[in-house]
Amino acid sequence: MPLKHAVVTGAGTGIGGTLAQTLVENGYNVTLMGRRLEVLENREKIINAKDQTQSISCDVTARTSVDQAFTQATQHFGQVDVLVNNAGIAPTAPFHKLSSEQWSSVMAVNLDGVFHCTQQVLPAMRELRSGRIINIASTAALRGYAYVSAYTAAKHGVLGLTRALALETASLGITVNAVCPGYTDTEIIQTSIDQISAKTGRSREQALAEFTKTNPQNRLITPAEVAHTVLWLCSELSSAITGQAISVSCGEVM
Ligand code: NDP
Repeated sequence: MPLKHAVVTGAGTGIGGTLAQTLVENGYNVTLMGRRLEVLENREKIINAKDQTQSISCDVTARTSVDQAFTQATQHFGQVDVLVNNAGIAPTAPFHKLSSEQWSSVMAVNLDGVFHCTQQVLPAMRELRSGRIINIASTAALRGYAYVSAYTAAKHGVLGLTRALALETASLGITVNAVCPGYTDTEIIQTSIDQISAKTGRSREQALAEFTKTNPQNRLITPAEVAHTVLWLCSELSSAITGQAISVSCGEVM
């Protein structure tokens, strides 16, 4: 049986990088997508399974770029069996200082990107009556957080899309789920820590405490914990799980 094909967006760094590695280790062919080709290719080197990986530059906000990337992806590894919509950005700003450009860019990557990529894979999944769509949302899809209003709104939108699409595809052998991590130890958080530190004059340790204080285990989530939740959602025995928001947050949200 040929290996299954998974596409991971934002696969060069952070959660996406660990996701790509975990899927490869569990027998998937993985297409790594993101804007920076060199970052994706570096990740491929780390994964070190050249026959099972390919890197394709793709800006998930741009329909043409997404169309071209998915055409290229399927030429090499065939139909997409698993799509993990992971690309995301999380700039911080108090709402009253948020520009419309910032708002639009957060929506474009975190919500429109999910729309564009999902539309690429759905027709073939519907035809084959099989597929897994997994959206990396956030606990910000389940509750509010101050200073990330655009991000919180976009992630709530991702969860709404997940639920609606799960119903549309429930009888077609396709599952659609959202994985909702709490603060996870990746670049996005390290950048936010730097921004808080620069804006408030607090130390990095004090800024980090802002992220861990709401976590009942008083820590950041690891990318591996998110990746293994995704792996479970890909399995045959998770067929009954659709339209769900799986919180990976040490009990922060329940
Ligand atoms: P990173 O910043 O490490 O990764 C984000 C990835 O998205 C990058 O590889 C980036 O690559 C890619 N990306 C950004 N914009 C675009 C675009 N327009 N088109 C294609 N790719 C893009 O962040 P994380 O690994 O932390 O985040 C991954 C996901 O997990 C995000 O959706 C985030 O919201 C979510 N999440 C993260 C949490 C955390 O605490 N870290 C908590 C909860 C959810 P490039 O710049 O090359 O395009």
